[in-house]
Amino acid sequence: MEISTVKREGNTIRFMVSGVTPAFANALRRTVIAEVPTMAIDDVMIIENTSVLFDEFLAHRLGLIPLTTDLDAYTLPENCECRSELGCNRCRASFTMEVEATDRTTTVYSGDLRPDNPAIKPVGEKIPVVKLAPGQKLRLEAYAKLGRGQEHAKWQPVSACTHKYLPTVSVDVSKCDGCGDCVKFCPKCILELKNDKLTVRNVEECTLCTECVRHCAKRPCPIKLDWSEEDFIFYVESTGALPVTQIVEQAAKQIGEKASELSQLIKRAK
Ligand SMILES: [Zn+2]
Repeated sequence: MEISTVKREGNTIRFMVSGVTPAFANALRRTVIAEVPTMAIDDVMIIENTSVLFDEFLAHRLGLIPLTTDLDAYTLPENCECRSELGCNRCRASFTMEVEATDRTTTVYSGDLRPDNPAIKPVGEKIPVVKLAPGQKLRLEAYAKLGRGQEHAKWQPVSACTHKYLPTVSVDVSKCDGCGDCVKFCPKCILELKNDKLTVRNVEECTLCTECVRHCAKRPCPIKLDWSEEDFIFYVESTGALPVTQIVEQAAKQIGEKASELSQLIKRAK
């Protein structure tokens, strides 16, 4: 297995994994989405709510706010030594929120959640929760814990995690007359004419849309589109809960742990 062409920009990363099976690539994708833990609000104690939204509706909205996560400081509730349903400092982070609209309509934002631990806070301050009309009030306590995307999507660390086969685009130059029609129609601009010869660049950008073949006057078309079944281009976009590199690292670590657990079990069964 080889990792190459790693490109990181803000909360996103793009990289190529070569020499693996489609099953392995899918395992990595699924582990990223469903098994890397993040923090999310899971318990809300409403003290006062005179807004137009039901308590349950509010709690659901609060649960979906992505929170910054510290995987070293917190542990999953099922692994925590406290064994308490209420949780402890190692498995639970708490927030308070108190907003009142006095003389004009006020929007309650994620930034109104006051964290006990500043390391665990909403990723964005401006996620709207509810609008309060004059005289309406909201007062609550919220408790966040680590969880996994397989239990609820609010614990997914990523807003996108995709992979695609590496496209292969080959041109039979002996049959191509270099008219350049395909160059104009390629939406990803991966084709270019160099000294009247059709060449391919940034092949990983190709989406195999076949526009080049459709607009080629020659039949059979000198452009051949295919893909490699052992090279995958991954695109991962973090919600901001964890750095995107940490998400991929954690997923790889978890696959490794599961594989060694399986091998231990098999050894014992012998
Ligand atoms: Zn605990």
